Order: sequence, then structure tokens, then C-alpha cells
Amino acid sequence: MTKRHQTFVILFILIIVCATVVLLLRKNPPEQTQTNPIHSNTTAPDNVDKPVAKPVFDKTTHSINDPQSIWIIVNKQRSFDPITYTPQDLVSVGNGQQMRQEAANALTKMLKAASAENLTLQPMSGYRSYQTQQVVYAREVETYGQTVADTQSAKPGHSEHQTGLSIDIGGGGCGIEDCFGNTAEGKWVAANAYKFGFIVRYPESKDQITGYRYEPWHIRYVGKELASEMKKTNIQTLEEFFGI
Ligand SMILES: [Zn+2]
Repeated sequence: MTKRHQTFVILFILIIVCATVVLLLRKNPPEQTQTNPIHSNTTAPDNVDKPVAKPVFDKTTHSINDPQSIWIIVNKQRSFDPITYTPQDLVSVGNGQQMRQEAANALTKMLKAASAENLTLQPMSGYRSYQTQQVVYAREVETYGQTVADTQSAKPGHSEHQTGLSIDIGGGGCGIEDCFGNTAEGKWVAANAYKFGFIVRYPESKDQITGYRYEPWHIRYVGKELASEMKKTNIQTLEEFFGI
């Protein structure tokens, strides 16, 4: 081997060794293995290693347009599609009134819980068909004139009672009247309805949003999940909660 050849072989070996060292360092950087334990023991907060996922309420779980959905929103601007929608699972809730099965079950539980506290709630007016609302609305217009009628009665196809998820309840000597809100029964409903999946649909001072004045007697079933979320976030109306 000539001297020139020897130099070439040594250079080649050196290059191989250097390349191997570089590759090894990239695979296991010395910084990481030395500093990580120090970080996790001293400066890093405990939750860095255990991220806690915040449960986010999913506003798309149910439709707000489908009449069969427990989140359907109907008001003076939003009607049923089809306008003569009729629920297929109506059952009796007593006093000649009907609601959809799921809402009826929840109402039964609520009336039982109220009764356990010596409060008697009476179902007054539950499901109303499109045709019934036509009669109710026409009578209101005839009695009070259209302007007044529109503040207290829904046009046919715009009444929540057509969902089969709403009911007017009375108690404590008050029926479908303002005084219900001041009875022990009315106060109990305002405070506890959400536990059974109901909301007081037309709260005080929300006339501009709901289109209706305060109706402490009118409750609407939306399911426990949504009712609890509205209670927790203190958003009282469906219009505000869904931003419509
Ligand atoms: Zn009502």
C-alpha cells in the first residue's frame, strides 16, 4: 500500500466514525435525557402530564328544526315543517291532557317529586293540534283584537303546544295565571324543573327574545342534558342558547 493509499483509508475511516457519532447523537440528544427529569420534578405543573379534557356541550346532538326532535324551536318566526305536524307518541298525563311519551315520563317524575314535598301540580293544557290552535287563536282575536291576541296566543303552526313537549301547569290555587309564579308550587317548578328536563320557556323580562311575556306556568321538555346546561350557563331561552 502506498502512503497515498494509507492516507485515503484513514480519512475514509474517520468520515465513517464521525457520521456514526452524529447519527447516534441525533437519535438520543443528551440535553433531553438530562433535563426532562429536572423539569418534571421542579418547574412543570402537575397537569402537564395529565391533560384533563373539558367536556364541551354539543349543540348539534339534536336538531332544532326537526319537529320530532326534543330540541325543536318554534316561536312567532319559526313554524313547524310540515305546519300541521302531529306527534305519533302522545300519551295521557292526566286531567284529559296529553304529551309525547318521553316528556310525559319526565312530567310524571316531576309531579311525584313535588308531591313528596307536599306540593300539588296540576296538568292544565298539554298537546294542542294545529286544528285546535286555529280555534284558540281565532277566539283570542275575536275577544281581544289581533294585536293583543298576538301577545298571548300563538298563530296555528307556531304554538309550542303542538310539539307535544310543552304543558301549562297550575297549583297552589292558581291555574294558568300570573299568580302561579308566586305560589310555593310555582317557585318549586322554577327551581327544580331542569332536574327533570324541563325549562320555564317564557321567563321574566325576555319578551323581546321569546315573543311572549312571562309565563311561569308554561314548561317545555328539552331533556335533562340541555335543561342542566342552560341552568349551569344561566342562559334562560332556547333562542339565546342556540343563537337564533
Ligand atoms: Zn302554554
